Amino acid sequence: MKKSTRVNHPPNVEVPAGNRPVVAPIYQTVKFEFESVDDTLRALSGERPGFFYLRSSNPTTRALELTLAELQGRDDCLVCASGVGAIAQTLLALTRQGDHVLCFLESYGPTRHLIRRTLARFGVSHTLLSIADLDAIERTLAGRATRLVVFESPTNPINRIADIAAITRLARAHGAMTLLDNTFAGMHQHGQYDIDFYLHSLTKFASGHGDVMGGAVIAKAELISTLRQDFSTLGGVLDPHSAFLLQRGLKTYFVRYRTQCASAQQIAEFLSTQPAVERMHYPGLADHPGHALAREQMSEFGAVVSFDLRAGAQAARRFSEALQLFAMAASLGATDSLVMPPQLLGSRDLNDEQQRRAGLAAGTVRLSIGLEDVDDLIEDIQQALTAAQVA
Ligand SMILES: *Cc1c(COP(=O)(O)O)cnc(C)c1O
Repeated sequence: MKKSTRVNHPPNVEVPAGNRPVVAPIYQTVKFEFESVDDTLRALSGERPGFFYLRSSNPTTRALELTLAELQGRDDCLVCASGVGAIAQTLLALTRQGDHVLCFLESYGPTRHLIRRTLARFGVSHTLLSIADLDAIERTLAGRATRLVVFESPTNPINRIADIAAITRLARAHGAMTLLDNTFAGMHQHGQYDIDFYLHSLTKFASGHGDVMGGAVIAKAELISTLRQDFSTLGGVLDPHSAFLLQRGLKTYFVRYRTQCASAQQIAEFLSTQPAVERMHYPGLADHPGHALAREQMSEFGAVVSFDLRAGAQAARRFSEALQLFAMAASLGATDSLVMPPQLLGSRDLNDEQQRRAGLAAGTVRLSIGLEDVDDLIEDIQQALTAAQVA
């Protein structure tokens, strides 16, 4: 073999039987081969197990899918290059011209865009309600054949708590499927409800370090099988190296999530004593309107703390800029704490009345609590309130 051939066919080093790697290896390969055409055809038709092409599956991404499915309490999962990719591909796979989708003011901005703009171009209509208005949800589902109810809990950014049992009961009664973006609550929560599809941005708590993007849809195997072909051809595939990093992130997921939630609780309690704060939005506080529901539905209340500064938008901007330990950046759920001032909260597609109904105020600030020492974070918040001249 000439050297130029050798470098393209390197020696194959097999791990001997009975000698396992302790950490699962990364299968950084797009292609897999079989010895014969027949075996290849049998694998492609699902008659025998095996991998063929990364866009359909790969052992590293598959291991991640099976881990996530088990965390959420379902039996199958498909991963994607981003959370929004998972939402877009799921919506495109589940809807057709003439369908109606129920969605909410209190939702992640790009999800609203996908439903209100993208799906609308393909003849899918929608109704936009407040997640707090159960009567309107019931009236809409009773009055109009609905394919999908798309919602979140706690909602982004102001942590409203959806009544998941009531919403799933109404959806089931009227023949609609449910899709819960469960990113804020995490992959171990809400599995006890009759939800058809769980969506997650893995960029947040699964990655946990703010350095990898990914998304997932989790459901019963028979529902996932209805998505598989569309996911493979829409093509927003997760790279095996990212899948490896996400699998690594999951090893510390529970320790991180619980610590971040405990710090968030302490920070919310601190902020609620501050005269500069007009209103808190953290479901772990006893006076939060969704507190009783959250206690019933959740084991932890999340690592996102939002609140309204009485002094309004410019004070919220000064406060956010004055924070030293919180990076002013998008995203959440990472080891480093982040802040979003109202100017960057991404609700520009809602008019003033819709923003008010969604619970957004001029001075709404969103904090994502990381793994820094909580006393340092509270001290930083205290100095920023002083610096913003609102304390
Ligand atoms: C961040 C986020 C997404 C989108 O995820 P990406 O990985 O950034 O594409 C979707 N839903 C919620 C609730 C999020 O916070």
